[in-house]
Amino acid sequence: MKKTVAIDGPAGAGKSTIAKLVAEKLGYIYIDTGAMYRAAAWKVLDAGVEPTDENIVDVTKKCDVRLRFVGDAVRVFADDTDVTESIRTPEVTALVSKVAQLGPVRAKMVELQRSMAKDGGVVMDGRDIASNVLPNADVKIFLTASIEERALRRWKEMKAKGYEEPMEKLAAEIAARDKADSEREISPLVRVPEATLLDTTGMTIDEVVQKVMALCG
Ligand code: C5P
Repeated sequence: MKKTVAIDGPAGAGKSTIAKLVAEKLGYIYIDTGAMYRAAAWKVLDAGVEPTDENIVDVTKKCDVRLRFVGDAVRVFADDTDVTESIRTPEVTALVSKVAQLGPVRAKMVELQRSMAKDGGVVMDGRDIASNVLPNADVKIFLTASIEERALRRWKEMKAKGYEEPMEKLAAEIAARDKADSEREISPLVRVPEATLLDTTGMTIDEVVQKVMALCG
């Protein structure tokens, strides 16, 4: 039977790396819900409007956010623009939590996410997957790591993409995003009691994948 696997956790915990590898091993589809909120934030920046709540809702409502398979890879689209790379810029990262806290934005994304998961066979990562998007998920995992390790991972990821940012700045940005995501009113980042807590501090990617695979077994 094809299962649904929900992976939640704070910023930089390695959710997307792990979720993607686990999905590959299981032959499931990987759904990166953070990428969808990032695509909405990208569209707001691209529209050049002031990012007020009203403008954000207006732009997002009109925007077709989609995850599409191009060959084997999942690409992120905002309307007809492939934004897979451009949603990872510091500008999008700085705006995304403000976009993601708005009810109408979340309602639209959650509907899309549920429809993508309706036949099972998905690994979905985000902040509110087990608590809200897929409360009946077969496997629920809360992935985390120390703030130092998460900042280091993000530093390496950004460096590989050509962004040289001080580690302290990245740690502060991650902490601020975690605070915004955990304290927002609608669907905040929470660990549901039934989720397995996986602290990946000091673990290799392979070790984490093995643990998650065992939980999916
Ligand atoms: O996972 P990632 O760091 O790319 O997510 C970007 C942002 O999108 C998060 O900081 C959060 O504000 C928002 N998000 C969310 N709910 C999700 C996934 C992401 O609010 N399910």
